[in-house]
Amino acid sequence: MTTSGRKSRLLRLGAALTPLCFMAAACSGGGGDPADFPDDNIEVIVPFSAGGPTDTVTRMIAEPMAEELGVQVVVQNIEGAGGTVAAGEAAQADADGYTVLMHHIGMSTAPTLYPDLDFNPVEDFKTIGLVTEVPMTVIARKDLEPTTLEELTTYVTDNEDSVTLAHAGIGSASHLCGVLLQQAMGVEVQEVPYDGTGPAIADLVGGQVDFMCDQTTNTTTQITSGAVKGYAVTTTEPVESLPDLPTAAEAGLDELEVTVWHGLYVPSDTPDEVVEKLNSALQVALKDQGVIDQMGDLGTAPVAEDQATPDALTQKLESEIDAWSGVLSGITAE
Ligand code: ASP
Repeated sequence: MTTSGRKSRLLRLGAALTPLCFMAAACSGGGGDPADFPDDNIEVIVPFSAGGPTDTVTRMIAEPMAEELGVQVVVQNIEGAGGTVAAGEAAQADADGYTVLMHHIGMSTAPTLYPDLDFNPVEDFKTIGLVTEVPMTVIARKDLEPTTLEELTTYVTDNEDSVTLAHAGIGSASHLCGVLLQQAMGVEVQEVPYDGTGPAIADLVGGQVDFMCDQTTNTTTQITSGAVKGYAVTTTEPVESLPDLPTAAEAGLDELEVTVWHGLYVPSDTPDEVVEKLNSALQVALKDQGVIDQMGDLGTAPVAEDQATPDALTQKLESEIDAWSGVLSGITAE
């Protein structure tokens, strides 16, 4: 991409979305030889709303990555269609390392859920590395009567026609967890899609929707402050930052087990030299004590060094595409 090409892209996105520049100077574009990479700002696309879990994790690592790379790292939120709008845009971006996609488990479910997908998650991207794997929680508006997951199951079953489940669009993590939760409860309720679980949880707190699944990175504070009711975590082990919540299996829904892995991607023609530099910056960010502490407070942790690699993310992506194609067969977004 030329310098002016990247500048105009930033301006176009920046007008409508939520940019955040780390480091002191103003945001601008730039470009050049892979050997000089990076010599200007890097844009990290988040495929969901600002203030949601993917946005939160991205902003945590953006600052130490920016420090390591010596340029600004600009977070851009491009919402829509469970993250596929953003991934489609990122796949078309210039393959120079200045446009990076942060995406989660939804990258692996998109081929099953979106038959007309305009990108191929494996062929159109090079992987940089896994970032974190986040537990999910089952939560409800604070005035919903049930106090345990068992009671919630009974309540949802009894009110199947009127109860509402919020999520961040078909293929989002909250949708996937919502599918598994409904399967485990044996119900099919009315779903209310949002552009991210940032706005979804705001409506849950406001009482406009009844219940949802969301990542601990978005729910820990809301649960501990009592803004929403927490019922269970979706991991096999309890989550340290939410010691009062049982695992779903302990609470009677042993089919409900899911975590949300996040990774960084660049368009497939990006030079290896550039991928290596981005990977080194990711490795540094994941060892940053501030990042470790912030993630820990929100129920998650950076992945181990050997997982923050292109190979580990490629393996994860390919195996999860296979796994989800079975679980989600028969469900499509169109
Ligand atoms: N990760 C999405 C977000 O950041 C939510 C989701 O996938 O459920 O809002």
